[in-house]
Amino acid sequence: MTSKPIPMLDLKTQYATIKAEIHSAIDRVLDSQQFILGTEVEEFEKVLAAYCHTKYAFGVSSGTDALLLSLMVAGIKAGDEVITTPYSFFSTAGSIVRLGAKPVFVDIEPTSFNIQADQIEHVITPCSKAIIPVHLAGQSADMNPILEIAKPYDICVIEDACQAIGADYNGLRAGSMGHLGCFSFFPSKNLGGYGDSGLVTTNDLDLANKISILRNHGQQPKYHNPLVGGNFRMDALQAAVLSAKFKHLENWTEARRKHAETYRSLFSSAGISISLSEFDFKPGIVLPIESGIGRHIYHLYMIRTKKRNALISYLKDNQIGCEVYYPIPLHLQECFQYLGYKEGDFPQSERAAKESLALPIYPELTYEMQSIIVETISEFCKSYF
Ligand SMILES: *Cc1c(COP(=O)(O)O)cnc(C)c1O
Repeated sequence: MTSKPIPMLDLKTQYATIKAEIHSAIDRVLDSQQFILGTEVEEFEKVLAAYCHTKYAFGVSSGTDALLLSLMVAGIKAGDEVITTPYSFFSTAGSIVRLGAKPVFVDIEPTSFNIQADQIEHVITPCSKAIIPVHLAGQSADMNPILEIAKPYDICVIEDACQAIGADYNGLRAGSMGHLGCFSFFPSKNLGGYGDSGLVTTNDLDLANKISILRNHGQQPKYHNPLVGGNFRMDALQAAVLSAKFKHLENWTEARRKHAETYRSLFSSAGISISLSEFDFKPGIVLPIESGIGRHIYHLYMIRTKKRNALISYLKDNQIGCEVYYPIPLHLQECFQYLGYKEGDFPQSERAAKESLALPIYPELTYEMQSIIVETISEFCKSYF
């Protein structure tokens, strides 16, 4: 191959299209010399609350801190159990453990990579205090059954929407369905800052009050601490950059969705896309499966293939970026061995960790690049299957 390398993500190209807006946003903060919370963050919170269809939104220091703060606000403490998926980024479970609580895992659906809602009830005990469904790759988990199960047990539902800003489910926005919603603005996310930051959303006034106090050490008023919180505050520079980038978010999301359609038609023209039910006996690639009950925002374009690791090397040799999200399911992480889970406990998550691969789907990707990616994967399929 002689074509230019295709990266997994290309933030430099995006920056070139918004450079002037970013610089004026940063200048505004520098002129104000107000660097933490303040009007810049408040304006951003208003815009994001409206976008997420929630009454309240609070800018915080990261997506991880959004999860930790949400669990604190929900009153999660040592000995409590929090039900979640083993197929997520580390901090979904890590934040549970940091409060002394115990993550209780439920396997994923092989179609969406999201938690099996109908299996949650089997693991509920008197210690169950929260459920964290993750909207993986940008597609909402099946929220209705989750909310229904949680209600009679008075269990708090915290949406990990870090990969799902602007996704919806039955017309409802990610982050607006549970008691609390958590978002990340890590630079590689669909709305990415220039550093770390995150957001917590809620429709509940009591929870909102608690978030705003706990985000700032649990103090109210200044130097009086009714609660023990932390420094989970958002920087004004991040809010300013994100406010500028937010104006493009819908266009970027639609570009990602268009790329997903383009992949679908290119893969099927190449004759290498197969359905999940054909996976075990037919060579090929399983494309992302949309649930059909809401907008998938394609934070990740997750394919599945039997020869995943060989495909990674092949793409690398052809200078095409790709990434595994995630190679080790959380129940098999070294630091969680004390929980007593073992290999075989969550077969769908373990399979996904071996078979899934994310391809480039950033908004600035071109049709030509997508054609090269699919051609290369097609060549791979011919020689490896
Ligand atoms: C990115 C991410 C997080 C953590 O966000 P940070 O801002 O990196 O702390 C948590 N959960 C999921 C599912 C994520 O994708």
